[in-house]
This record gives sequence, C-alpha cells and structure tokens, in this order.
Amino acid sequence: MNVTVIGTGYVGLVSGVCYAEKGNHVICVDKDVSKIERLRSGEIPIYEPGLKELADSNTAAGRLSFTDDLTEAMVAADVVIIAVGTPPLPNGEADMRFVELVAREIGYALNGYKVVVVKSTVPVGTNERVRGIVAAISDYPFDIASVPEFLREGSAVKDTLNPDRIVIGSESTRAAEVLTRLHQPFTDQLIMTDIRSAEMIKYASNAFLATKISFINEIANICEKVGADVTEVAHGMGLDRRIGSSFLRAGIGYGGSCFPKDTKALIQIAGNVEYDFKLLKSVVEVNQHQRYGVIDKLKRALGSMHGRRVAIWGLAFKPETDDVREAPAIEIIESLLALGAIPRVTDPIAVENFRSLLNHPSIEWCDSALDAAKQCDAVCLLTEWEDYAKLDLKEVERVMASPILIDGRNAISKEQLEGTLFAYYPVGRPMMN
Ligand code: NAD
Repeated sequence: MNVTVIGTGYVGLVSGVCYAEKGNHVICVDKDVSKIERLRSGEIPIYEPGLKELADSNTAAGRLSFTDDLTEAMVAADVVIIAVGTPPLPNGEADMRFVELVAREIGYALNGYKVVVVKSTVPVGTNERVRGIVAAISDYPFDIASVPEFLREGSAVKDTLNPDRIVIGSESTRAAEVLTRLHQPFTDQLIMTDIRSAEMIKYASNAFLATKISFINEIANICEKVGADVTEVAHGMGLDRRIGSSFLRAGIGYGGSCFPKDTKALIQIAGNVEYDFKLLKSVVEVNQHQRYGVIDKLKRALGSMHGRRVAIWGLAFKPETDDVREAPAIEIIESLLALGAIPRVTDPIAVENFRSLLNHPSIEWCDSALDAAKQCDAVCLLTEWEDYAKLDLKEVERVMASPILIDGRNAISKEQLEGTLFAYYPVGRPMMN
C-alpha cells in the first residue's frame, strides 16, 4: 500500500518507519525543512531504541522516503495519515491549528479516492471537522477514519510493531477494509468502532493510566506516614489480575507530551458538555503536587537551600527517551533555583533538549552522574535510567560534600546502598541508613 504520513515527530516517524517495515511504500512529510534534510541524510532527529536501524534498512530497500512537499507526497497515496502535534492551549484544550491546517492542505492536494486517517490525539468531533474542511475544498471522494496511537516513548518501535490492539474508528466499509489490510500485519486485535468512540478510547486510556499513577502516588504518601512500603503494597495489589501490576510504580508523577496534556484536554472536553470530571481533576492535582515531594525532602535533609549544590540525575520525563516535555525535572529545578540552590544536572541523552527549555545561568551542566555529584550537598534521582541503578555509590559518596540521596523513582537498590553512609529518601518506603 502507498502510505503518506504527515508529521515526523515521535508518532509520525515511528509509525511511518513501521508501516514501511511491514512492506508498504511510505512517504513521511514534515513542514520542518531542516528535519527533512536530516532525515534524508540518515540522521534520526529523536532518540528511540531501534528506530535508526529500521529507518536505514527501509530507506535502503526503497520503501521509505522523506519530503516537505505534501502535494507531491500524496499523489500515489492510498492512505494519508495525520500525525502532527496537538499541544495544549493555556486553558488545557488541545490546539487544533496544526491538524486543521493539514486538513486544508490535504483538501488542496487530493487527486482521487484516499482514506484520510487522524492519528493525532484529538477531541471527540475532530474527525468530523477534518472531513468538513477537506470536503469544503475538494470534490474528490475520500473517507475519514480515526486510528489513535498508543505507543510509549522509549519503546515506541516495539510498541508499534507489537501493539496490544489497534483501534479503527470509521463509518465507511471501504475505509475499514483498507485500514484492516494495512494494520492486520501488526496484530489480530483490530477493534472496529464508530469515529467518536475511537477518539474517546484514546483519551479514556490515557486518563485511566494517569489515574493509576496518581492513585499509587497517594498510597505512597500515606505509606511514608504509616511506615509501610509502597513497593510491597504495589506488588501485592498488582498480582490481582483485576488490578494488574503496570503503572503502579510510585514516584514523582507523570510527565511527557501526552498524559499531562490529554488529562487536561479530557477535563475540558467534559466541561464543554457541562460535565465536571472531578476524579480526573484530582488526578491532575495530585500529580502536580507529587513532584514537590523531592523539594520537601531536600529541605528536611538540608534545612536552608541557599547556596546548596544539588545534583540532578535525569532530566527526561522517563528513561530511554530524550523528550523533556512536561518532565518533572523542569519544575523541580525551577524550585531549586528559586530557593537559591545550584543545580548540577545530567542525563544520558536529554541534556540538549533540556537546555533549550531551561537555560538558567546558575545551572551547571555535567557529563555524568559522578561529575554532577561532585561537592554536592545532595543528589536527586529524577529519571530511572538503568545506568543510575548500576552506579557504585561508594565512589559517588567520596566526591560529595554530604551523602544525601533523594530517590524520586525508587530506582536505587538496598545492595547499592550497602557500605555507604547515604541518608536515603525514597518515595513511599522507609528511609534507609
Ligand atoms: P511532535 O511534536 O513530536 O511532532 C509533530 C510533528 O508534526 C513535528 O515534526 C512538526 O514539524 C510536524 N508538523 C506540524 N505541522 C505540520 C504541517 N502542517 N505539515 C507537516 N508537518 C507538520 O508530536 P508527537 O509527539 O509525534 O505527537 C503527535 C500526535 O500524536 C499528538 O497529537 C500526540 O498527542 C499524539 N501521541 C503522541 C504520543 C507520544 O508518545 N509522543 C503517543 C500517542 C499519541
């Protein structure tokens, strides 16, 4: 099949590469000319394990190419996939400007029957709006379909090649047949729904996962006060198949480009139809508060923060990604700066992205966890990179001014702490040492 993917971000690029891997001819389009030039020269602008290898092999096989010319890219397309961003507006609603602009461009470029797929996460009713925009411009026949994306950054290639399910929201038999053929090689779990339900499945899924995270974080906060261990609690809960063990890891809350934005958007979607989504509002509030637990623990351990050197291990919103959008590290570092502390920050791959977001003169940029810890009064682990769980803490202790470790992700093991004098502050677990 000939597939055109519009938007080469985390979703568009990974999807495009994986459609090509399944034997389709894929053209990826982006309006960002420099991004297209980098992709054409074999460079992958984002970090995703396994993506470069697949992009290289499919480009070499002639199944994958990149362009900034949407009209040219659509000439032979059977399926056109919209995968541009839907960032949050200040009131929490999703910004539909990019999707609507692309819909207009599709309208002008249409040259015969195509299935137009909205893969971006969009409020209920958006597919119909896209249909209206395209139909107002073009007389060519087309169908619209919602195929929301569920990949996780950091394991996006794996998730796309082995999805739990693929949701196809369509009201056209022809489009449903085309999309079934396109997606059958990925999984047998193809869920066919109406368009509005498909749009809602995406928001409901993310809202539910965010709820699990905020739930376990509140349990962790109570555990700290009653002397229980949230990791034991989560294990004991998760073995119940009705609950499941995933997304029960206590920490400093969710971040990234999806959960914060999609939870707030769903609250707005509900509000627009005069429904007060109280539960989800609390989920957002709990998440916002959770990251400041790190600051509270620092204050408890150090007293005044002014002039204190604090190492920050991990800037990305989660491991295996260079994405720092809405990462808890942003607000934690901003709080440290406001308190007059000196953050010494490091991350295996997200430093450059973080610097473009928050480049304060008092931030000291470091090459490694050990380097960041030098002469520090405390270390805060904010992203559970595997490397940090392998560090020799005796060596870290030797370079620090005082051995205090705030573990925002419960990533450090008892074995790592053995033989050290670290005052260790985990989340929802008894302190050690
Ligand atoms: P992104 O910001 O990484 O990428 C969007 C890309 O679209 C950019 O490269 C941008 O230049 C391009 N673009 C914008 N307007 C364009 C236009 N008119 N023509 C061509 N290209 C254009 O976004 P993302 O993280 O890939 O997310 C895309 C959508 O998928 C969002 O709606 C998001 O909510 C959803 N989603 C994201 C994830 C995730 O983990 N990132 C997971 C599931 C769903």
